[in-house]
Amino acid sequence: MSDNIIPFDNSLKVKIASRSLKKTCCRHRRSVVLDPDSRLLECDDCGAFVDPFDVLADIVNREVRLTSSREYLAHEVKKLRDEKRELDKEVKRLKAQRRYHAAKMSQNTTKTDQLLGNFE
Ligand SMILES: [Zn+2]
Repeated sequence: MSDNIIPFDNSLKVKIASRSLKKTCCRHRRSVVLDPDSRLLECDDCGAFVDPFDVLADIVNREVRLTSSREYLAHEVKKLRDEKRELDKEVKRLKAQRRYHAAKMSQNTTKTDQLLGNFE
């Protein structure tokens, strides 16, 4: 029996792969390689084995942050749409007010011209 094979029970043998000597932690966490044969995760940058729990925790934390950001952004979009709707109403109100005052000014100018015309 080889030194790197440990009898687990009568039917199952566990072989310690030589690559288990690779370093077991890294800080890259940008990309991992799933090895379906060994069922291990390796860092795509340095080849170190990565703890699947750490990868899962990173994914969950990223998803939580993304969900939180998405909710915040959806709230901000709604808030900005509401503000735009209110500003559109204000613009419409101010345009109507400007038209009213322009018409009123035009009437007053006409009356003034008529009054001045009476004195000429
Ligand atoms: Zn790495």
